[in-house]
Amino acid sequence: MELVLNRQEVCAWLSCESEEKIRGDLMYLGQHVQLNTKGMAVHLRGLVEVSNRCRRQCAYCGLRAANGALERYALSDEEILACAQRIAERRWGTIVLQGGEDGASSAERVARLVKTIKERHDLAVTLSLGERPIEDYALWRQAGADRYLLRFETSDEALFQRIHPPAAGSNLPSRLHILRELRLMGYEVGSGFLVGLPGQSLRSLADDLLLAQSLELDMVGIGPYIAHPDTPLSRGLDAQGEPLPLLSASDSEYVPSSGPRQEQLVYICLALLRLLLPQANLPATTALATVNKDQGLLRGLQCGANVIMPNVTPYDKRLLYAIYPGKDIVDETPLQKEMALQEQLKSVGRFISYDRGNARS
Ligand code: SAH
Repeated sequence: MELVLNRQEVCAWLSCESEEKIRGDLMYLGQHVQLNTKGMAVHLRGLVEVSNRCRRQCAYCGLRAANGALERYALSDEEILACAQRIAERRWGTIVLQGGEDGASSAERVARLVKTIKERHDLAVTLSLGERPIEDYALWRQAGADRYLLRFETSDEALFQRIHPPAAGSNLPSRLHILRELRLMGYEVGSGFLVGLPGQSLRSLADDLLLAQSLELDMVGIGPYIAHPDTPLSRGLDAQGEPLPLLSASDSEYVPSSGPRQEQLVYICLALLRLLLPQANLPATTALATVNKDQGLLRGLQCGANVIMPNVTPYDKRLLYAIYPGKDIVDETPLQKEMALQEQLKSVGRFISYDRGNARS
């Protein structure tokens, strides 16, 4: 089922603020497409935050190298394998290893871990370890990694430059190049963007959506930008320390960086993504659950999301993976999480699926 949406229509939906129209028309359509393509199943991916060490200086992220206020950690092989064991026991089907760009974690070590997990368990392995030399991705693919997740963060090249210091040799075209290479290597490719980056216009948000579509992504992870007090962006500065243009809260051309309208735009984007990429996996993300603890996940699912990524990182370390404040502060076992989710899902007619949930199956 393909629904053709042009840029003008995408922009019109992003400008819409009528909750009635959004729920009645757009979310309804998103759910309809969801039902006809992916069904009512929700897939769980066990998220393991392997390290908060990072060599980069992304202006929005609390893990940035310059943040001296953060105690750093890296999980040992044993700790990571114990997480894999717990995920396999719960039959969630997928493990996601995510982390900062930790120079101490060699490509060989990651390859060994992937291989061991694949030997021991029937799990899909997703890696999300940032930008690495192309050879590293190839090595990990050979070791058995199934999916790679690297968000493009924004399709606006000028904004990308302002929030990622150019000195690090990273720019938007090079990130898009990586995504294409990953596809050629046979990975299922996930990417995505932030909603509400300071200086992000509604037009550039429309381009984010259309870029996700043109990349034919298998997975699109999006979430609200949440200001982290120990980052330049939260103080109105870009990665070079230059002030960003101050926007008035009423400037309807821009995406707000907090509040109900930002959250509403995340829901609109999720529903539009379900229409633009009917087969893609769309997670209802932790960031969404952070801005709306009671309803975020469920409302995300009701717009067309079909994946949830419960965090299985050891609790003391999870607190240190502080990409933004307020994230996942509940200390529950995977089983407790699953039971709680099951109850919540039931209330909206959804259920947990225990297969791997590949994008094109
Ligand atoms: N180092 C890896 C993993 C980063 S964490 C990488 O770069 O791919 C995963 C995602 O968290 C990032 O891609 C980013 O979109 C999101 N993130 C980082 N800081 C955030 C913030 N302040 N608010 C919301 N999301 C944030």
